[in-house]
Amino acid sequence: MRLSLADISALKPELNEYGATELFQWIHARFGSWSIASSMGAEDIALISLAATAIGPENVKVFTLDTGRLHPQTLQTVENVRNHFGVAVKVFFPLSESVEALVNEKGMYSFRNSIEDRKECCGIRKLEPLKRALGPLDAWVTGLRRDQNVTRTSIDKIEFDMMNGGLAKLNPIADWSANDVWDYIRDNDLPYNPLHDRGFPSIGCEPCTRPVKSGEDERAGRWWWEQPDSKECGLHGKE
Ligand code: SF4
Repeated sequence: MRLSLADISALKPELNEYGATELFQWIHARFGSWSIASSMGAEDIALISLAATAIGPENVKVFTLDTGRLHPQTLQTVENVRNHFGVAVKVFFPLSESVEALVNEKGMYSFRNSIEDRKECCGIRKLEPLKRALGPLDAWVTGLRRDQNVTRTSIDKIEFDMMNGGLAKLNPIADWSANDVWDYIRDNDLPYNPLHDRGFPSIGCEPCTRPVKSGEDERAGRWWWEQPDSKECGLHGKE
């Protein structure tokens, strides 16, 4: 059953104190229908491992969005996650007629024209499939961390996701640093996207992601031609 805004506001102080394992146990007990949303980045790998350890892989559901513009290494990571963790991974694709209309009207790289055109592409390739993925769920779980970007500094471990129809959004590693994520991955010898070893701390679509330079923000390589405060695709609330 879905929680109300008031329910979630009341739960925030307690759940913000929970560690990731405790929070996954709470999620599993509280929600009938929930899933981890994964772009197969390092945070998501840690998240899937934490969930599988906390409640058993047979109880973990993962979904991912194949935008049609992902790196091949990311697609391989989807398979590696299935095989390594033994969890179900559901893949959502954009509507083919919408992609065809966009590309035939504006070309293959319309997202470079303007922020509006970039958001149009993200809308077709990410947001519409996300809405289909979230529609039947009571809650979704993300690997967002507070120190990833200026747009994420105030996230709570449970939030009310009004933008996606009023369901709970849980962020079990909101208080982890990037070092915490990598220590966990290495300590547990987990499979991860090899692009992380080539200078990509944050991995999105191939034409919209580049490696970052030393000292740059973790998400500086995403839509690098835009200002930092516009750098969300809408999946996590910033439009
Ligand atoms: S990240 Fe780039 S290619 Fe991917 S959906 Fe957004 S604009 Fe389109």
